[in-house]
Amino acid sequence: MAYRVGMVWDSAFLQHDAGEGHPERAERLVAIREALIEEGMWERFVQVPTREATREELLRCHTAEHIDQVMAARGRSHVSFDPDTHASLGTVPAALRAAGGSMDLARAVWRREVERGMALVRPPGHHAERDKAMGFCFLGNVALAARALMAEEGATRVMIVDWDVHHGNGTQHILEDDPRVLFVSLHQYPFYPGTGALEEVGVGRAKGHTVNLPLPMGMSDHDYRLLFQSWIVPIAEQFEPEMILISAGYDAHRRDPLAMMRLSTGGFASMAYDLCAVAERLCGGRIAAFLEGGYDLEGLSSSVVATLRVFLGDDVDLSGEPQLAGAASRAVLEASKALLAVYGFKG
Ligand SMILES: [Zn+2]
Repeated sequence: MAYRVGMVWDSAFLQHDAGEGHPERAERLVAIREALIEEGMWERFVQVPTREATREELLRCHTAEHIDQVMAARGRSHVSFDPDTHASLGTVPAALRAAGGSMDLARAVWRREVERGMALVRPPGHHAERDKAMGFCFLGNVALAARALMAEEGATRVMIVDWDVHHGNGTQHILEDDPRVLFVSLHQYPFYPGTGALEEVGVGRAKGHTVNLPLPMGMSDHDYRLLFQSWIVPIAEQFEPEMILISAGYDAHRRDPLAMMRLSTGGFASMAYDLCAVAERLCGGRIAAFLEGGYDLEGLSSSVVATLRVFLGDDVDLSGEPQLAGAASRAVLEASKALLAVYGFKG
């Protein structure tokens, strides 16, 4: 079965310069594009055009003060938001287009204009808080996409899976009191940004709708596979999402210079495959991924290629590396199951 896959890509994303020697660099997207062209895949996607997100849309996730701060950086050659997060002349247009393109891609999949989608955007979004930029992120692309689905399309159950190696603090904090959202994050822990403990399970009426899976360094394909197949898939089946959004960072790849996980390219394909299968069963196939981190050009580009091969319906090697899941991932699995059972989720 071949799927119509929407893609967001814009040369404006290359104009965001995070600073000399910064790992979140334009070459990341260039490497992905070159790999897709080399594999003969580039022409197979339906391009979803970008546009700048409006102030009204941004206010669904961010404070007026934060939006004002971002807009004030427009036209300036250098503004530092935090020690890791710097804006150049091209940053604000790129961030606004990444957010606008992410929202439009999610809506295109929701309306079945395309069947699946991937937003190859930068700057990334999952660390951006309601009231501040941080961790290379300015605007919460995935949170904005979820809110756009709820505000414009009437979505009532949206599942977000964040497999970036860092905790998606911004996405969690923006949406953690919204019972229409189920947010699942797998991340190295303790690690940047420090949040994402098992005990963070959501707020108010949305308690139990935040699922944090904090993992020690060194987790392999099979540790992640165990958590997907024994927990994330069952949780999804009980939540019955109408659409799945993936915060797709590739910095849990074994080649990544920033983190210490051991996923292979096949491991990312396996996670994409499991979530596509859930989407087919529960959401009429609706699924979209949004690029977050991933700082080794080879690990990043090969893993995006693998994700998109799964999305397109191509045959992909899902085997990963051969060893079994270890005790550490089993312990996190059991602890999360015990904690979430209180809120009605069963493994
Ligand atoms: Zn990351």
